[in-house]
Parts: sequence; structure tokens; C-alpha cells
Amino acid sequence: MASLNDIRSTFLDYFARQGHAVVDSSPLVPRNDPTLMFTNSGMVQFKNVFTGLEHRDYSRATTSQKCVRAGGKHNDLDNVGYTARHHTFFEMLGNFSFGDYFKSEAIPFAWELLTKDFDIPKDRLLVTVYHTDDEAAEMWKKVAGLSDDRIIRIPTDDNFWRMGPTGPCGPCTEIFFDHGPSIWGGPPGSPEEDGDRFIEIWNLVFMQNEQHEDGRMTDLPRQSIDTGMGLERIGALLQGKHDNYDTDLMRALIEASAHATSSDPDGPGKMHHRVIADHLRATSFLIADGVMPANDGRGYVLRRIMRRAMRHVHMLGAQDPVMHRLVSALVHQMGGHYTELREAQALITETLRVEETRFRQTLERGLKLLDAELEGMSEGATLSGGAAFKLYDTFGFPLDLTQDALRERGRTVDVAGFDAAMAEQKARARASWSGSGEAADAAIWFDLAERFGVTEFLGYDMESAEGQV
Ligand code: ATP
Ligand code: MG
Ligand code: MG
Ligand code: MG
Repeated sequence: MASLNDIRSTFLDYFARQGHAVVDSSPLVPRNDPTLMFTNSGMVQFKNVFTGLEHRDYSRATTSQKCVRAGGKHNDLDNVGYTARHHTFFEMLGNFSFGDYFKSEAIPFAWELLTKDFDIPKDRLLVTVYHTDDEAAEMWKKVAGLSDDRIIRIPTDDNFWRMGPTGPCGPCTEIFFDHGPSIWGGPPGSPEEDGDRFIEIWNLVFMQNEQHEDGRMTDLPRQSIDTGMGLERIGALLQGKHDNYDTDLMRALIEASAHATSSDPDGPGKMHHRVIADHLRATSFLIADGVMPANDGRGYVLRRIMRRAMRHVHMLGAQDPVMHRLVSALVHQMGGHYTELREAQALITETLRVEETRFRQTLERGLKLLDAELEGMSEGATLSGGAAFKLYDTFGFPLDLTQDALRERGRTVDVAGFDAAMAEQKARARASWSGSGEAADAAIWFDLAERFGVTEFLGYDMESAEGQV
């Protein structure tokens, strides 16, 4: 059975044979885009190459890009543990053409790799195209011999990609794998779409247009290709599994988590192990790329992910910090390809140990308070914003941790109430500062804190040139 490490190599080798430069993953903190929180797709490091601002000495490239989707426009944090296909950290395999080849080569490349090198049966694959993209539909018919009902035309933005409000854009085609009728879910565009039966594995973007400020859309002089395929998703199907978390790599982490907490990886705590395995990867790779836990910005997103994992550790009944004990299993799995992980192993381990030791001191007390609150509440009532704020302010519970804890109990939080309590606290702090004669500094600080603040990340979320792929 091919491991995820083998599959990554097969992909990169295939595109190397097709004349692509094999380029390293860029860091999770984007170098060229301060408006983007984390690198969330393969094209991020090539944005300026696509627009022509930057020149490289190759016109085709292939990468396995580290991605985190835990904030901003693409936020899969709440999916983790619940769907078979989402992670906060994942690897996106991609091939790119910078004004070199276009559709007539990109589609055959993808089809050949999937059906020859990976040997996926053709009758398990189907594709979507943008509804007006006859060219792509024709090509799928010609190259892959897919029947019309397996080439689904989608009229929504899901199949039209934009780099930002203006700039390069174009239709895309998504390739889906059918995991079989025993799994719930319908094909793309159907009413039951959001199940796990038909899973999107690969997205091919055809950059052929340019959106102008005045609303006009013109043809790009240099047509380009940007694709992204989730390694964990292609890995699951190649290993005969339906669920990303059953792949060799994720399974090794789940077993490490089970071992460290003396629990059954497939028992009632199964979901906790999945979340822990996922968050361990996100946390460790972020630290390896220089993010440290903090109370704002990127560091706060890291802290939210860590603390969430730590609550799941606690749910498994562990009496001592656990996360730091899992780092060696991760380095064993991924440190071969990602040497930065190996180099940062000591830092990751120590950061997790200190953070978990600290957080455990308030976690238990906070959870007790939460239980007490819930006891007094009537069936179906939402947790008050004030209570959620107290959990945040006194016990260090990020809002999403409280929401995650409540979700298991079928409850929700009054988010507006939480925001109001937060705003009130800021106003109080602001008032007390203005008396100190440092009002100007304080105003700047509070402005920044608000913009990059702890509950919202509007500063990152905006119209940034964020890649769908
Ligand atoms: P989905 O619709 O399943 O959420 P997407 O359309 O948001 O996926 P893209 O932005 O097109 O995903 O990213 C390209 C590829 O990266 C996807 O086809 C998928 O294989 C993979 N991918 C995207 N998000 C995740 C995730 N959270 N975890 C694992 N793989 C992912
Ligand atoms: Mg998505
Ligand atoms: Mg999609
Ligand atoms: Mg997609």
C-alpha cells in the first residue's frame, strides 16, 4: 500500500517528468501578503508570478504546499472531527503553469495521473465545470470519455475562481470521487450534496480572464493554470479508505494519541483522537514556521487550535499534559519531507508542554462553571454571552472552544451577547486609559486590537487575494 509520503512523491515526480520545476512549500505565514492570515492554497506563493509582477526562471511548477484553513474566508475548524474530508492543516498538491500550457494540457495531465499512475477506476470519477465553459466540458468528453451526466455544469461561484475583487480570475473544474452508495450524500449540485459520498479531490483553475475595477471582464493575455489536490483525500481513496483520518499518516497520530491517553483509538473517544491528531499537525507546523501562541492575530488562532485540542485531551480523562508527547510521532511521519519540523521539534515540544500545563489549571475550573451554567438552563436555551465571556476572560476559553464544547451537548452560544460583553470591557479599559495621559497611544492600541482583535479577524478576512486553490 502506498503511504501518503509515497503518494506525495508520485505526484511531484509525475509533474517533474512533464517539465515542471519541483518547488518547496512556502511557509504557512505568507511572505508576500499581510492581509492573508495563513497560506491556504498552493497558489499563494505564486500570486505575483501569475500577475506578472514577479518573474521566475521556470514557467511550470509543482508543489506540495502546507495549508492551514482555520480562520478568514476559508475556515474549516468547525468541520474537523465531524466530516471525513476536512483538516485545519493539510497538504495541497498542485501543478502550475505561468502563461505556459492551458486547458488542453492541464486536463489530460490530471486524467492521466489519476487513471494511469494512480490507477483509479474511471467509473468512480466525475467532474464539474463552470456552466459556460463549453471548452472544458468538451475536453473532458474527449480526453476522459466521460458521459454528459458525469460532467456537471455548475452556475455558482464554486466553479468560478477569483484572486481578489479585481485581477486574474476564471472558471474551474472540480474532480470528484464516488466513495459508493453505502455512504450518504449526493453528487455536486444535488440537494444532498454536502454528504461524504462524492468527495472533491482536485480543483483545476483556468485563469483566463481579468476583472477590472470598472466592472469589465477581459481576456488575459497570458493564460495560466493553478490546481490543488488534497493529499489526505487522494490518499484515503488510494488506500481504499473513505475517511482521511483512516490514512496511514493520520492513523499513526491517532494511535499515538490513544496510546498517550491509554484509551481505545476506535472507542467512544474516537472523535477526540481525530481532533487531537488534526490539531497537533496544525499547531506543530505553525510553530515550526515561527508563529507563537499569543492573544491576538495569528498567535491567537494558534492558541485557539491548541486549547481546543487540549480540551479534547481532557475529555479523554488524561491527568497530565499530553500534546507534547505526540510531537515525536508527527516528526517521525512528516519530518522526512518537512525538515523544518525536525529542526523545530524541541521548540514545538516545549511550547506545547508549557501551554498545556498552564491551560489545564483553568480548563477544569472553566468546564465546571460551564456545566453549572448548563444545569440551570432550560432545554434548548442558548448559553448567555456573559457566561461565555466569563469563560473567555477568567478561564482563557476562546469562544470557539466554548462553542465546540456546547455542540456536543446540542447547545449554542449567544454570540452577539458575547461580542457586546467584549466591547463593553474594551470600552471600560479605554476609559481608564484615557485618564492616564497616554490617550493617543491607547487609542492606536485599541484600534489595532479591535482590527486584529481576539474574536474577529476582519483585517485578514477582507477582500484579500486569497486563493480558493
Ligand atoms: P471542499 O468543497 O471539500 O471544502 P474546497 O473547494 O474548499 O473543498 P479548494 O479550495 O478547491 O477546496 O482546495 C483544493 C483541494 O484541497 C480540494 O479539492 C481538496 O482536495 C483539498 N482541501 C480543501 N480544503 C481541505 C481541508 N480543509 N482539508 C483537507 N483537504 C482540503
Ligand atoms: Mg472548502
Ligand atoms: Mg469545493
Ligand atoms: Mg474546490
